Amino acid sequence: MYRTHTCGELRAENIGNSVTLSGWVQKARVLGGMSFVDLRDRYGITQLVFDDSKNADVAKQAQELGREFVISITGEVIERQSKNSKMSTGDIEIVVDKLTILNKSEIPPFTIEDNTDGGDELRMKYRYLDLRRAPLQKALELRHKMGIEVRTFLHNQGFYEIETPYLIKSTPEGARDFVVPSRMNSNQFYALPQSPQTFKQLLMIAGYDKYFQIVKCFRDEDLRADRQPEFTQIDCEMAFVERDDILNMFENLAKHLFKSIKGFSYDGDFPKMAYSQAIEQYGNDKPDTRFGMLFNDITEMVHGKGFVVFDSAEYVAGICAEGLASYSRKELDKLIDFVKKPQIGAKGLVYVKVNEDGTFKSSVDKFFDANEQKAWAEKMGAKPGDLLLILAGNKRQTQSALSELRLEMGSRLGLMDKNTYSPLWVVDFPLLEWDEKSGRFHAMHHPFTSPKPEDLQLFDTDPGKMNANAYDLVINGVEIGGGSIRIHDKDLQAKMFKALGFSKEEAEEQFGFLMNAFKYGAPPHGGVAFGFDRWVSLFAGFDSIRDTIAFPKNNSGRDVMIDSPSNIAPEQLNELNLSLTKPTE
Ligand code: ASP
Repeated sequence: MYRTHTCGELRAENIGNSVTLSGWVQKARVLGGMSFVDLRDRYGITQLVFDDSKNADVAKQAQELGREFVISITGEVIERQSKNSKMSTGDIEIVVDKLTILNKSEIPPFTIEDNTDGGDELRMKYRYLDLRRAPLQKALELRHKMGIEVRTFLHNQGFYEIETPYLIKSTPEGARDFVVPSRMNSNQFYALPQSPQTFKQLLMIAGYDKYFQIVKCFRDEDLRADRQPEFTQIDCEMAFVERDDILNMFENLAKHLFKSIKGFSYDGDFPKMAYSQAIEQYGNDKPDTRFGMLFNDITEMVHGKGFVVFDSAEYVAGICAEGLASYSRKELDKLIDFVKKPQIGAKGLVYVKVNEDGTFKSSVDKFFDANEQKAWAEKMGAKPGDLLLILAGNKRQTQSALSELRLEMGSRLGLMDKNTYSPLWVVDFPLLEWDEKSGRFHAMHHPFTSPKPEDLQLFDTDPGKMNANAYDLVINGVEIGGGSIRIHDKDLQAKMFKALGFSKEEAEEQFGFLMNAFKYGAPPHGGVAFGFDRWVSLFAGFDSIRDTIAFPKNNSGRDVMIDSPSNIAPEQLNELNLSLTKPTE
């Protein structure tokens, strides 16, 4: 028998028991005639003691142990001399009288402890070693539990989990497709699903009125902290529903996860905010509502005073950072550098210190007197001791730069507590976005999203003004999910494709199957999909989704452990009737 207990299980009440444990040697140290070993498995760590004076043979054997050796031991649980309250097993230790080395290990390339000395690439290359570390094991445990809770909740609500295929045709979610050549159908390609969108709609037409799936989706786009080329969605769809039926159902799912996973009860309904309000007040369609610091548009107040930066700006707005009037010149300069970073894109920053003594000190004292600055401070709800930070320029760019500045200040002021959850539904997104480059509209969500019923009449006159019957769930500034009520009428869907610049033939070629299905009794339907990795990472308190995924890709989309993507053999290319036009470097 390899074990009677796990390495995280033994407590003071086990003192006197004879036990067998198996696991990995995290650390081995010799102190005089005694050796101590930290034995680890995914349940925890137990301290082993080898006493030379009691069992010299075993103690000698223990001296050969190196890090990550796999061993099995039998011994007696005793009270620990120097107790460790940080460890769940810290009250006991085991005096070993039998040791079996099950497997040796080479010295691992980094320390396998909570805080490792291994850099990112190294840990990715030896991901199986990285995954032995407790923070990752906790994240995967959390992921597993969340998956179970999602399934339990949705099952109890009458949802079926139904799998949909991976080898499909393009589903437009705004990214590039990963394509897979078909050997049996020469010169033809499958696309991996960017989401199961069209299939879940077909399932509604097929009468499965509550569907969900925890499913992989594939999008070929540039990677960021919250993106992976393959990621997991909790994908859901319901028939015979209006928007609020969906919001209620999935708000309850979110509340269930808050409660069952984080022990947090959210009272009342999640707030709803129109997209336009989110942009005006937060400069962002996924506002972090854990704190205020809303935008204040002062364009009208500042124009025409001879300050060319403001005079030439389409939009001038500011935020009030509480209590920061004490910022030094150096700290303000750093903020100016921050907003000027290319990824933030502001040209400069105007500050106003609302001093404790009622005076004002700003970077634009030459152009605006104290009364004018006082009026801004009042508009921004500032108190003595606060700091106003103002950006100016093109409206959309300035809003997005100010949004970054707001988040930076929120973080500096400690307003983004990871244990507070502030959920929000963002609703009423525009249906279409005008793309200057291609000179045509793009669907802001996807082409199957229905316009709001009251906006339908704008389709022929002013399509850019239509709002979508779409919604996003945002928690703490993270877009956790989004969805919409769908178009279920073939003529409206055809109109939508036309507005998006598809010719009749292109629409037929790509989505004929769906349009056809709409001819056979499509019920009203809608749905939502949640980014499962993101949700786990939010609950884990991680900044990146990477460590919520057992085997993720790096920033270049590579799996450096298995070395993929990689070349394929010429025979394979031949079989697929493919030839490479650029030689491999
Ligand atoms: N398919 C959509 C997405 O992946 C979600 C939805 O509309 O249900 O974003």
